[in-house]
Amino acid sequence: MKLAMIGFGQAGGKIVDKFVEYDKRHGSGIVRAAVAVNSAKADLMGLEHIPQDQRVLIGQSRVKGHGVGADNELGAEIAEEDIDEVQGAVDSIPVHEVDAFLVVSGLGGGTGSGGAPVLAKHLKRIYTEPVYGIGVLPGGDEGGIYTLNAARSFQTFVREVDNLMVFDNDSWRKTGESVQGGYDEINEEIVTRFGVLFGAGEVEQGGEVAESVVDSSEIINTLAGGGVSTVGYASETVEEKSSGGGLLSRITGGGEDEQIDTAHTTNRITSLVRKAALGRLTLPCEIEGTERALLVMAGPPEHLNRKGIERGRKWIEEQTGSMEVRGGDYPIRNSGKVASVILLSGVTNVPRIKELQQVAIEAQENIDDIRQESDQNLENLVNDGEDELESLF
Ligand code: GDP
Repeated sequence: MKLAMIGFGQAGGKIVDKFVEYDKRHGSGIVRAAVAVNSAKADLMGLEHIPQDQRVLIGQSRVKGHGVGADNELGAEIAEEDIDEVQGAVDSIPVHEVDAFLVVSGLGGGTGSGGAPVLAKHLKRIYTEPVYGIGVLPGGDEGGIYTLNAARSFQTFVREVDNLMVFDNDSWRKTGESVQGGYDEINEEIVTRFGVLFGAGEVEQGGEVAESVVDSSEIINTLAGGGVSTVGYASETVEEKSSGGGLLSRITGGGEDEQIDTAHTTNRITSLVRKAALGRLTLPCEIEGTERALLVMAGPPEHLNRKGIERGRKWIEEQTGSMEVRGGDYPIRNSGKVASVILLSGVTNVPRIKELQQVAIEAQENIDDIRQESDQNLENLVNDGEDELESLF
């Protein structure tokens, strides 16, 4: 599936930058265009793969290239004011060649948190292609203001996109790592999951396992209907036969060995499907009640089989209770592994979001209290108790 990716804010820019690098590394052909938008000049300069002329600095007259300092209301304002500049970069994208837009942003900060929903709304008004979002939730240790920003942005972003795929930093952070090193690893995890998912829709039909290859319309239909999505992933390394079959299969001519192989392949697939669905999702949630799902099995064609994928698909149907579970394969040669990616779309039982909202409400109340209190304290400090002094003017 060919995407026009727009990274908003620092996290958004870095993740899209990594998508471009992933795309080059794997030749997956999913990034048709990549744009980065930020109010902080230094963040734009730190990117490595997004072309210079596709990096847009907004809000220069307001914040002079220094960012909005986690003020997402200001982030939204400057995005609205400078939307024409963003549109200028989008204008250079051959939109007729893309299947969808993907707006990527961290929701806890200011520029992306405020700006990403504004851009999504704008794109949806202008184009007929679907507009999807990837929204990154902050870690629980980042503090109240980041949680409050994320909760408000989440609410707005979900409303403005055709589907919001969520990644929760909180369930992925590792202790004992520098924040930057940690983010590099986390970003790699994000890009791998979504890279396999969207890459699946880019395989030409008519190949070796032609009928069951995932088509981009299946990704689009799974995401259609809106709401919130999460992605599961599991992989296993495998030995790859050189094309044309190994020496053994040529001597035995298939037969019993091949059958054992088939059973093993099927079992491996079912086990990978379970691991992906029951392991760590990009956004942890209860999978029961999911509206729609898509299973993608990626790997060397001889390690993929229809029976395994069909069993995996049925199992997901049972677990989610959904009647709309699609499945297919994504043949990749020389990857050395078989991977299962599950897109769960329209999830509603998500305790993590409820917790985020609760903490955000508390933070909002605390912030209001502290502001009132500090106004009072300043008043007490500056004025002499008896009003004996007069200010100059
Ligand atoms: P902005 O530039 O004002 O939009 O804010 P940032 O993107 O710097 O930060 C917003 C949030 O994104 C932070 O609160 C973090 O939770 C998260 N974040 C920042 N950088 C990264 C990154 O490289 N990867 C991931 N996964 N999250 C990040």
